[in-house]
Amino acid sequence: MAKNFEELLREARELSKNIRPVDPCSLDALRKQGKALFDALPEPPSYRRAGDQTPARAEALIEPTVRFLAQLYGCAPDTPGILTSLLNTLFNFNKLTERQKDEVRETVQLLTLAAEAHLRALVAIRDGDIVQGDLLASEARQRAKEAMREGMRFRLVGNTGHLPVFDRATGVSRYDPADDLKLIFQISCPACSKLGQFDISAMNSCHLLTCRKCQRRFSVLIGNIASLNRIDHGIKNHYVLSMDLLGEGPHRFEFDDRSRNPFTAAPGDMIAFVYAPTKSLSALENLTTGAFHAVQR
Ligand SMILES: [Zn+2]
Repeated sequence: MAKNFEELLREARELSKNIRPVDPCSLDALRKQGKALFDALPEPPSYRRAGDQTPARAEALIEPTVRFLAQLYGCAPDTPGILTSLLNTLFNFNKLTERQKDEVRETVQLLTLAAEAHLRALVAIRDGDIVQGDLLASEARQRAKEAMREGMRFRLVGNTGHLPVFDRATGVSRYDPADDLKLIFQISCPACSKLGQFDISAMNSCHLLTCRKCQRRFSVLIGNIASLNRIDHGIKNHYVLSMDLLGEGPHRFEFDDRSRNPFTAAPGDMIAFVYAPTKSLSALENLTTGAFHAVQR
């Protein structure tokens, strides 16, 4: 008798108790493993047909997905006791700054949600449940996208220029003081729309940039979204954003926007306010998702 979703989850929880990292594991190794599994999710058939191999392909992916989940549960933030020692072994966790710890926790959590969604979809596809299989597969794909942060347009690096915040291959943090942090990101020029790459100190939120294509100057204000409220006034939207600005902390922003599409972002997303040389707000760019939003005053 094939196990159902709940039984497989219990199996993963059981397995997770025996997870002892032998080789230096890293966040990127987990992400890579996740990506391989997520990409293998078969397209559920739109109708039942004889000799369909899809259920068998789904079945074959269940066991590796359970093992992957067990690894994630093993270092999941809600596993008291095991958490600190395991995360520390995996990522040199105690040496990370609070921001880096949050990043590790968040990535593990997103990967866990994605892996659970995949397991649920695989079980439905294996069982030949066409309607559920289809729904669950698209949810699983969405979760995978979130976990992989496709569209991400920034990375934080240490002061040596090329070293990552912490070396994901070894889990070793290469520096400690946060004031050495640099932010490398891509953003579109408000004048010519050309996407350019910039390199700034992550300890200041406000920076004057020069477009390499049109040579026009523009400024950016960068931070993470804490909360976003949109009040619909019909012809315009009024926004109230709480932001944790780089190197500064919480700030509140309010602005009106007459563009037709609402600006959307999730808490934690890194956002750049883009100001034209005239000092007027011209766009919001979501550096986490790569979404661009032109503001119309
Ligand atoms: Zn330009």
